[in-house]
Order: sequence, then structure tokens, then C-alpha cells
Amino acid sequence: MASQSIVEIAPRGDVVLVCGSAACTKLRVESKVLALASPVFQAMFDEKKFHEGTTLASYGFVEIALPDDDPLPTKTICQVLHMRFNVLGEHLRPKDLVDIGIVADKYDCSRALSGPAYFWFSRLVDAVDDSGRTQLFIAAYLLKQDQLFRQISHDMVMKTSNNVLPIAYHAEYPMPLQEAVGALNRQRSTLGVKIVRFIEDAVLDVCDDGGPGQCTPECPTVMRGTKFVLQLRACNLCPPSKILIRPLEQTCMALECFQPFEESLSGCSGGSVYWCKGAFLKRSATIKQEFSDMVKETEQNALRLCLKCVQSGEIQQGKCEKDHSK
Ligand SMILES: [Zn+2]
Ligand SMILES: [Zn+2]
Repeated sequence: MASQSIVEIAPRGDVVLVCGSAACTKLRVESKVLALASPVFQAMFDEKKFHEGTTLASYGFVEIALPDDDPLPTKTICQVLHMRFNVLGEHLRPKDLVDIGIVADKYDCSRALSGPAYFWFSRLVDAVDDSGRTQLFIAAYLLKQDQLFRQISHDMVMKTSNNVLPIAYHAEYPMPLQEAVGALNRQRSTLGVKIVRFIEDAVLDVCDDGGPGQCTPECPTVMRGTKFVLQLRACNLCPPSKILIRPLEQTCMALECFQPFEESLSGCSGGSVYWCKGAFLKRSATIKQEFSDMVKETEQNALRLCLKCVQSGEIQQGKCEKDHSK
């Protein structure tokens, strides 16, 4: 192992962590600080349980090789635990938070990082793209950020455009997390399809479904149908297939943009075979109300996943009913 300088996080610390394998980084830290933050380190420094603890008790110093741990996130975590809060000034990316989360999860010290982690998230949460959002979701799980996990899961449903890639290829991510991402993807598709069907039904409710001989050419119903479809197009709701690839949040804004139009509900005398349904068709003001209700329903139904439920392998469909928010 090549000799390298030590990052003096605690200059008089009694432990040196040697992180990584190829280009390893040495971090000098204080055993008491790590033991307070992490039950894993606490056990490791127990002189009766592990040789690291025995060495520390005998010599007052121990060097611990951690070849599997990524040096950079381990360093950041140690800095925070030792109150070197200057790292809060660093601009971390979503991927960095995932890396920190993997180490924090391994050493079970997420709770001790809670405040700074919340700070890092809050700078990113409203400024990420789809892939960054998925990374933040994963990081919120690993760093046990209950409130952010709820919020980001909701964002995953409402703000993400296409289905995010399954994360199954990352073997280090726990199974409940993979299932949660799957559930959010499924819900995003389901809610999108529901809105598409809803608009298709609205078209049938507003436009008479035609048919040979149904209406006279001057019938106001024909004009209503044209006005309605033009409104849908102006609001970007037509063709409805667009909705399946666009974020639900944008579709909700499009539904809200729809405005009632001037319309005559009188029909015509009808054609030779059918009678005119003009007078019985749905009014555009009613459609407007139904669109607004649809927006509310979509926003309410979009999952806000409870971290503790997901951890225990349960994806709740509505609100968490286990009193986990306390
Ligand atoms: Zn008619
Ligand atoms: Zn719960």
C-alpha cells in the first residue's frame, strides 16, 4: 500500500480509517464520535467483541482497513459527524447523496446525519431532472429522510415524464426500495391512462357521436363539437396520447387551462333515422368542473410513500395508517 497523507478530521483522534482499495484515503477520526453516531462502529470498538476494539484498548490507537467503502462519501460523513460543517458549503449532486447514503446505511448512522442531509436535499429537490429525482428518492430512503421520502415519491409520480429505469441493476439497493420505484412507475402510468380515458369520455359527452342522418348540417351541436376539440387542442390535451409521455403535473395544468365556451344547447329537428341529442349533451361549464375535480383527485391519489412502511416491505396505497409519522 502506497503511503499517503492522512486527512486530519480529528487531529488527535485515536482511529485511522483506510477507505477504498486502489487509491485509498486515510481519515483520522475519534472513536468516541463514531461510536456515538453508529451502532456498527460502537460494536467494532468494543474490546470484548472485535480485535479492532482490543487493539484500541491496548494501544490507544487502531488503523482500520475499509476496502469496500468509497473514500469520498466516507470522508464527508466523518467530517459531518465531527462537526466540520464547512462541508455544507460544498455543492453535492444527487449521485453524491446516493453514495453518502450507501455508506450511512451500512454503518447505520443516517439519523446522526439528518440535519446536514436535509440541508443538502433542500438545495436540490426542486431543481432536478428525472434521473436526478430518482437518485434523490434512493438517497432519501438510504438516509432515512421520512418527510423528503414522502415528498419526492409524490414528485416521482407527478413530475417525472417517462417511466424511470428500473433500478434492479444496482444490486446494492435494498429490495423494498426497488419495489417502491416500481410502484411509483405503475401509478404514474395508471393515472395517465385514467386521464386519457376521462378526456375520451368527455369528447363523447360533448360531441354527439354522429352517424348517418343524425343531424342537419346547420345543427349547433356540430359547432359545439368543433369548439370543444379546438379548446382541447389549445390546452394541449389533444391528442390525448401526449398525456402518456408527459409529466402528470403538466397535464393537470392543461386540464386547469380548459375554459367553458359559448354554446347553444338547442338541437335540430334531426335527420331521417335518428333524433338529435343536442339538448341533452354535457355543458362545457360542467366539463370544466369535472376537469378541476380530476386534477384534485390525481394530486390526492399520487402516492406519498411512508418510509417506515416501505422499509417493512409494504407499499401503502393511500395514507399510512400505522401512525408512522411520529
Ligand atoms: Zn342536431
Ligand atoms: Zn407507514
